[in-house]
Amino acid sequence: MEKLQNYINGALVAPAGGEYFENMAPALGKPYSLIPDSDERDIAAATEAAKAAFPIWSKMSIQERSDILLRIAALIGERSEALAAAESKDNGKPLKLAQTVDIPRAQANFHFYGTGILHFASESHSMGDLAINYTLRQPIGIAGCISPWNLPLYLFSWKIAPALAAGNTVVAKPSEVTPYTAYMLSQICIDAGMPKGVLNIVHGLGPKAGAAIIEHDDIPMISFTGGTATGEWIARTAAPKFKKLSLELGGKNPNIIFADCDFEDMMKTTLRSSFANQGQICLCGSRILIERSLYNRFKEEFVKRVKALKVGDPNDPTTNLGAVVSKPHMEKVLSYVEIAKEEGGTVLAGGKRAAIGGEFSEGYFLEPTVIEGLAHTCRTNQEEIFGPVVTLIPFDTEEEAIMMANSTKYGLASSVWTSDLKRAHRVARELHTGIAWINCWLLRDLRTPFGGVKSSGVGREGGFEALQFFTEPKNVCIKY
Ligand code: NDP
Repeated sequence: MEKLQNYINGALVAPAGGEYFENMAPALGKPYSLIPDSDERDIAAATEAAKAAFPIWSKMSIQERSDILLRIAALIGERSEALAAAESKDNGKPLKLAQTVDIPRAQANFHFYGTGILHFASESHSMGDLAINYTLRQPIGIAGCISPWNLPLYLFSWKIAPALAAGNTVVAKPSEVTPYTAYMLSQICIDAGMPKGVLNIVHGLGPKAGAAIIEHDDIPMISFTGGTATGEWIARTAAPKFKKLSLELGGKNPNIIFADCDFEDMMKTTLRSSFANQGQICLCGSRILIERSLYNRFKEEFVKRVKALKVGDPNDPTTNLGAVVSKPHMEKVLSYVEIAKEEGGTVLAGGKRAAIGGEFSEGYFLEPTVIEGLAHTCRTNQEEIFGPVVTLIPFDTEEEAIMMANSTKYGLASSVWTSDLKRAHRVARELHTGIAWINCWLLRDLRTPFGGVKSSGVGREGGFEALQFFTEPKNVCIKY
């Protein structure tokens, strides 16, 4: 089986301990490559390399750094077919989704920050005749970047690109469950002429290689995307070391549908916001709140369309849902269907493992699942499931919809469907989420702040917010 390698100090290398573990293809339910089981020795080597590279990279002109990031973006574009095929195989997602979303977006992230850094400026504060202050924004040092498995290269690049653009060097770890495109990115960086040690990619387990990044004293900032429990551990571990932290965590997003919405537009988008990437997008709307007068019409049409979704071969362009990412994750999602039933829910569609024959018979496929009849306070409606499972909940008033929407510990994203402009503004203002989409979902402008409130995280990514996170502001005060 192919052995993946770490990318440390500009070279592809084996892990210090020489140990590997299996990388599964979720649609086949079989291992197909081997992942380095890296430990603190590999993180130490990567950190040494990043430390040595920092003075060179941080002092390089912005134009030169930009050129390298743009070359990486161009190479991602040239290799997009191979990258999309690898992402689909590694994650189980439909190839078409990887071709149209994951890989173009990873390319866009490098392009966006490769050009964004050329326009990044800082402020000055005049004190009249007395003095002038200006804010010097300097790169900090080594950024630790840790990303999850649901949108592997897309979220990995969303951190790495701004960290590098701002002049930092990076030690990064992709999810152990989906390491392949990060491995391919190593070769792309070598081919793009990235100076050695600037970006280091170390593969391995979260509690081992990942934890070694969090604990390393020479890594002063951490950008993490993943589960809330992991984020909590990271915050606890990093706080006594006074590390700068950006945490993008879980969600339990409400999708609020008023009776006056554009029904067809809402229906098409709600199918996507419920089941895109098998429901494994932190922004998916898993709680669908529907105004009671529309409830039966919505339910009938939605369930009909959900039952018509095609689950199966990720390479088939007509497939809507591929495999979920792993066996333990599939079992976790199925356990929530059982919890929903125990809580009194009625399964209107799906609820089971999907039987796909042939080479996919061992794959981790789940039927898209719709459940109704649950209180908004029950576990199914409070805990993140992160799979193709949505619940339907009726509401009577705008106030009730807002109350239920805000009733979880999470606060990442929300969608609101209405043709009433005043109500749209009003509800968006009242929702405790970092993002509120009105009559749309996943419409992303990379300049906008991205992140959540409450247990969905701390800090914002995106646009200049990320460049601010990855730089330290220093006030310089000059007396006239
Ligand atoms: P995890 O928290 O399990 O893992 C995320 C990353 O952290 C992985 O690379 C993981 O490595 C690593 N990790 C795990 N334990 C540690 C540790 N102790 N120290 C350092 N690193 C560690 O999340 P998942 O990968 O399961 O991702 C799904 C979660 O991510 C969901 O909760 C989802 O909502 C959230 N998410 C949030 C987004 C947002 O923008 N807010 C976007 C996308 C997802 P390994 O894989 O090896 O365990």
